Amino acid sequence: MTVQFPFDNTYSRLPERFFTRTAPTPVAAPRLIRVNTSLALRLGLDPDWLTSEEGVEVLSGRRVSETAEPIAMAYAGHQFGGFVPQLGDGRAILLGEVVDQDGARRDIQLKGAGPTPFSRRGDGRAALGPVLREYIVSEAMAALGVPTTRSLAAVTTGEWVRRETILPGAVLTRVASSHIRVGTFEFFARHGDVEGTRLLADYVIARHYPEADQAERPYRVLLDSVIGAQARLIARWLNIGFIHGVMNTDNMSVSGETIDYGPCAFLDRYDPEAAFSAIDVQGRYAYRNQPAIGHWNLTRLAECLLPLLSEDEDAAVAEAMEALGGYASSFEDAYESGLRRKLGLLTVREGDADLGRDLLDAMEANGADFTLTFRRLSDAALDSDSDSGVSALFTDPSAFHAWAARWRERLAQEPMDAVARRAAMQSVNPAFIPRNHRVEAVIQAAVEENDFGLFEELLTVLANPFEDQPAFTHYADPPQDSERVYQTFCGT
Ligand code: AMP
Ligand code: MG
Ligand code: MG
Repeated sequence: MTVQFPFDNTYSRLPERFFTRTAPTPVAAPRLIRVNTSLALRLGLDPDWLTSEEGVEVLSGRRVSETAEPIAMAYAGHQFGGFVPQLGDGRAILLGEVVDQDGARRDIQLKGAGPTPFSRRGDGRAALGPVLREYIVSEAMAALGVPTTRSLAAVTTGEWVRRETILPGAVLTRVASSHIRVGTFEFFARHGDVEGTRLLADYVIARHYPEADQAERPYRVLLDSVIGAQARLIARWLNIGFIHGVMNTDNMSVSGETIDYGPCAFLDRYDPEAAFSAIDVQGRYAYRNQPAIGHWNLTRLAECLLPLLSEDEDAAVAEAMEALGGYASSFEDAYESGLRRKLGLLTVREGDADLGRDLLDAMEANGADFTLTFRRLSDAALDSDSDSGVSALFTDPSAFHAWAARWRERLAQEPMDAVARRAAMQSVNPAFIPRNHRVEAVIQAAVEENDFGLFEELLTVLANPFEDQPAFTHYADPPQDSERVYQTFCGT
């Protein structure tokens, strides 16, 4: 076979305790759902080959490229606050790494490729619905400009998986800057394996934060870098109304990408208490808790890195605390500048944060749709005749009008002209997000009717979230009451 995946592997060269060598388990009758052509090209892969019979065999795990070195990565993690010493890739297999057209190294992983030594009682498989959800939402996040893993392909397996019901199986090909998690560090720390921790930290520095290598205190810079990347990532989530759903430490990437799309969801009406995941009964991972959970998870990372910080234990703790102390301001800066841009404010004035918060409070009190409010605000920035489009989203429209008067006073202090302001606002306030009811409709059509037309259509719309797409305005609409999704289920 010709080398169609030019793998260039580094993680599988680390010591054997970092992973287990495991090949995918072949499936009965793989069929291609979709290959992401533009992503394939960026990765230097041939989309025609990927869609060929041989390509589909690789994407389903039936055939392993000669240059692949399939492994299941070892990791631990805190799940809903409780420590689980051994998790690891239970239904995902890393085939290897490729260096993309920009010179960036990317993991190529099959999710749902069969059992591994880390599967515990799981079957190592993925159901079609969650594979489609991850495909849609990760690609939407990328188009929205949020750091994320990507989806290269999805195939059905011709096999069934047993969950609460019997469901069709599927495999997702996931692309990531790396699959190293906070939980990967916890795996070594838990075993008191300082050498493993150091090797992992050196690997992460070389792969993700090479500037740290030049620093006087490389591991401190590593910690600061992960903290900063996560603070900015979570600020982006809040700015677009995203709820991850399972922010366990094993689902937090040290590269700062969004990873592991399970019971994730986007806000429709603005409700900071919103938590959709059926397994998150306490609302631990609710929309508004995400910044604090980010800090909690990063504290677990800092604990793992203590042996690499100052020699003296007290000094190491002080150093970790100092690094963690930077999280809040990194988050606030990113969140507030994101919110300012959503409001059309390019300069910084005292009171801007209050202005933003007051709008959000009014949206909450009036059940206003998060995405549409900001999108329509872009039009109102050009022309106050458009205010009624925004206020119609509020149960009491006067709540918006009162706020809009203050907003206009503030806009008057801005140098930018109104046409440019609307364009700037439209470039950060999407018209289209993967609304939960649309994602559910895609899954239902695929699972029940074997119809992938809605899947393709939704992906087309979400590829350009900041552009008005007159043929697809219905995709911008919030759900009718009968369509509203109240719960999402885990991607197992
Ligand atoms: P998640 O909740 O998807 O982040 O997964 C948590 C852990 O459970 C990870 O170690 C997964 O590899 C493992 N896991 C989830 N689903 C399965 C499955 N169907 N078979 C085996 N392991 C699984
Ligand atoms: Mg091993
Ligand atoms: Mg996970």
